Amino acid sequence: METKSIKAFGTEAAEAPLKTLDIKRRAVQAHDVEIEILYCGICHSDLHSARNEWHGTMYPIVPGHEIVGRVVKVGDHVKNFKVGQLAGVGCMVDSCRECDHCKNDLEQYCDEGSILTFNSPDKHLGGHTFGGYSQSIVVDENYVLHISDKLDLAGVAPLLCAGITTYSPLKHWKVGPGQKVGIVGIGGLGHMGIKLAKAMGAHVVVFTTSPSKFDAAKQLGADEVVLSTDPEQMAKHAKSLNFILDCVSAEHNIDSYLNLLKVDGTLTLVGAPMDPLPVTSFSLILGRRSFAGSAIGGIAETQEMLDFCAEHNITADIEIIGVNDVNNAYERLLKGDIKYRFVIDMASLK
Ligand SMILES: [Zn+2]
Ligand SMILES: [Zn+2]
Repeated sequence: METKSIKAFGTEAAEAPLKTLDIKRRAVQAHDVEIEILYCGICHSDLHSARNEWHGTMYPIVPGHEIVGRVVKVGDHVKNFKVGQLAGVGCMVDSCRECDHCKNDLEQYCDEGSILTFNSPDKHLGGHTFGGYSQSIVVDENYVLHISDKLDLAGVAPLLCAGITTYSPLKHWKVGPGQKVGIVGIGGLGHMGIKLAKAMGAHVVVFTTSPSKFDAAKQLGADEVVLSTDPEQMAKHAKSLNFILDCVSAEHNIDSYLNLLKVDGTLTLVGAPMDPLPVTSFSLILGRRSFAGSAIGGIAETQEMLDFCAEHNITADIEIIGVNDVNNAYERLLKGDIKYRFVIDMASLK
């Protein structure tokens, strides 16, 4: 297959810093869209993957799955995209398209495993897929999203992972007006969860371990902020929440949050702590409560989320950096020193 050589930013080993690499993209096929990448968000999973912390990383790796840019070429059979339009790519670039999940717009749960934007087998070129820290990407139009020109484009990039990861569970568990919803943690995911739950009409209670984040949580739209390390503040919310979105990746006490749920309430994990989380049976039994998890969202739902954000004027709060700042940004990410998402200006990749 014909290919094109482009610049990308990635690494050849877990211990090595990221640097400029040359990679190949396939020539545009009949159903493909080629996107010149303008911005790419930095997700915590980029760092985990680059450093092989989840194991299974194939090198060289080019991370990045919060991609926005402009369509520069379309295949002969492409129906929904035109050259010059804005477009986005999230965590998936393909899936089997035939299993029940794919047929029901749940490609993220594809039985065959969806093809992730980076570090998945590349059925076109062999080898593995390369992500958005790069000049361009070629993706089947069925896995490309439309992006509104009403919003700040750099701030839209993180919607493609952090946005859909929080939107999908809020929708699935029917968060809306008249409900009290808890958001645990104010990071890349949590800050989107606050904005989206608020825009859906819920009363939003934010839980944080740091008093210094109270004002920030309020600015993001929280109706109430609770210091989760203070048992008295926690007790005030006992049995009062309809739903809790848990965005924390560090070890934390799940029971203390389950006990804040009403009867039939659900706590859904979108953060991913590495170690198993202990849960006391009675925290679930006494209240018929559910402890759940959720992964990104399907392509149709991702488009719905982007449209919802355009309608409600929602973008991520970001800090724009150049590619040469990525290694430093990873270190800051580990310290939580970011409000709330780094976004790479890909024009800096030369
Ligand atoms: Zn991500
Ligand atoms: Zn499938």
